[in-house]
Amino acid sequence: MSDSRTVGKLLVNAQQMLEGAGIANAVQEARWLLAYALEMKHHELASRAEQSVTAEQLACVLSLVRRRESREPLQYILGSQEFCGLDFSVTPAVLIPRPETELLIQETLREGGFAGGAVLVDVGTGSGCVAVTLATILGGMRIFALDCSHDALSVAKANAERHGVSDKIVWLEGDFLSPLKECSVAGAVDAIISNPPYIAEADWAGLQPEVRDYEPRQALLAGPQGTEFHERLIHDSKQFLVPGGLLVMELGQGQAPLVRRVAEAAGGYTGIQTVKDEAGIDRVLIARRACEGPSHG
Ligand code: GLN
Repeated sequence: MSDSRTVGKLLVNAQQMLEGAGIANAVQEARWLLAYALEMKHHELASRAEQSVTAEQLACVLSLVRRRESREPLQYILGSQEFCGLDFSVTPAVLIPRPETELLIQETLREGGFAGGAVLVDVGTGSGCVAVTLATILGGMRIFALDCSHDALSVAKANAERHGVSDKIVWLEGDFLSPLKECSVAGAVDAIISNPPYIAEADWAGLQPEVRDYEPRQALLAGPQGTEFHERLIHDSKQFLVPGGLLVMELGQGQAPLVRRVAEAAGGYTGIQTVKDEAGIDRVLIARRACEGPSHG
């Protein structure tokens, strides 16, 4: 890159380096990295193509491109990801929000019909994208956001602050649903929403290096089946949901039939349904706490 003395040349060189490393979106990603490093708007990369770059800028771009060449996700390099139209800060402590997770929000809102004072719980909040987005849309709710990772909760809290909803969310650190036990909300929760870890152990090695080598393993990896957390959610949510309350969970590809069977066999749920994402994959499972408790738990 030593002859990359203008913005235009640097952009071409960055693209070539990324292409050489097998990055599929090299042209776009080079633009993102340069715009970030040179503190320019994307359109300025073209209008200022002839502008020369300093040695310092060159070194900065080079170090970012090298990180991307080694498959660090673009979002960790840039420090952010858009979700439901909001910008979320991300660090390697949190899963990068995925577009398919927007369906969790849509379905929660579509099914919800929440009254003022409703209680919502986001299990495994990560970056806080689900809890924070819901808090920006819904007024007068109490939202509990749970995660076992202290570092993830720090990122989520910062995101809530950034979007002006800190006062609407209670952050709880601990394993799975257990922190809820101290909150006196048994039988009073209107919705439990979760994008749990759902990668099966056998699929781990085949994940993209960006995911496998950089994103938090504990946010991704379930057990041998991949559906272990869904099963726990189905069983453990019953004691917290109000009659008619919603359980809304994200699913991995091919997991819908098994998770649906588990929900049916668990008893205590009605209206079990799955919703497809834009790729036609059954991505979200919705179940409602039955109004009359099952005769045998
Ligand atoms: N959708 C993510 C992926 O395939 C997995 C998210 C999760 O396990 N909850 O990388």
